[in-house]
Amino acid sequence: MKTLIFVIVFALSSFSASANLCKRSNILKRHRDEASLLRNENFSIGHFAGDETYDAHVIACNRKRDDKKKAIEKTAADHQFLSTLAPRFVKGHIKYLNFAKMKYGYKVQRSRGVWMVTVAAQFHFPKHKFPKKLDIPMTLARELGIGTTICARTTRRFGSISRGYVNLGNSSRLLNACRVKRKEKFNGIVITTHLMKYWKRNIEQYWSHDGIKVRFRIVNLNELSSNELKKYKRRKIIWHIRMNHNKTSRAMYRASIGKPHPLYAGLNHFIIRHEFGHIVGLDDEYPEGNNPPSWRKCSENGGADYIMCNSWGNNKDHVKGTYPWIVTRRYYTGKTL
Ligand SMILES: [Zn+2]
Repeated sequence: MKTLIFVIVFALSSFSASANLCKRSNILKRHRDEASLLRNENFSIGHFAGDETYDAHVIACNRKRDDKKKAIEKTAADHQFLSTLAPRFVKGHIKYLNFAKMKYGYKVQRSRGVWMVTVAAQFHFPKHKFPKKLDIPMTLARELGIGTTICARTTRRFGSISRGYVNLGNSSRLLNACRVKRKEKFNGIVITTHLMKYWKRNIEQYWSHDGIKVRFRIVNLNELSSNELKKYKRRKIIWHIRMNHNKTSRAMYRASIGKPHPLYAGLNHFIIRHEFGHIVGLDDEYPEGNNPPSWRKCSENGGADYIMCNSWGNNKDHVKGTYPWIVTRRYYTGKTL
């Protein structure tokens, strides 16, 4: 498992996509109050409760870096949001190291006590390398029934993989990928559609639970009405998922200077679920580099089963209550459209 964890952490980390935990001195009374109060929310019940001390730390670091901090904290820590709230479009940046910015953008509303967070996404498939092929995660290949046929072995042509199994270096075969033709259909549906729906399924099922419903709307598949799409475009909050065919590239949820296509098409479900956290304005919590100071080691500070720390398990309960709390506390910073 060590190799596996190492490979995944390596794939996830990138110096500009990592804010990591901040110093504990940033934790103020307000953040401790919030960490205590969030325990009353439906999305924090049972396995989703998390560790109160760690939650205060995550909230403090996130707030410190959020350019909407002042607006968020204008609302009292114990503010009772109405159980039904009209949709608002929330947008901002998470800053870190004083030079990089991570943009977040989503729609948030509430209906009968249940929060709903919607992200509109547009996929851009790899254009430069293997433009007529598509790498897909092995778990998707298995779902499509081609895990033991097309994807069982590798076919090479002129020294590169033309079809089949792509070893990404993960110790589990299930966390590697498979290359098929871009226009190939399985069960009557083209593979690009299967891949987009795979992302949707993984994100919606993983991030939704009691008190929080997450919706992932795919622009390519016309999942938004033209009127809705106009609103997202006007606010510039569409998540552009720009894919590459470089299996060793480090995943970053958005393009940046020098990295215009930052997501490998065959990324496994753990990484997809983690990257979604960034588009709704959550930071990385896991430490970078060798010998990080002890306060940066998220696992040892209570974050062992948090998706933004380094928990890659299949359990839904890794979306701890602190995450929907942070995401929904921005409600009043949003604009109605
Ligand atoms: Zn990350």
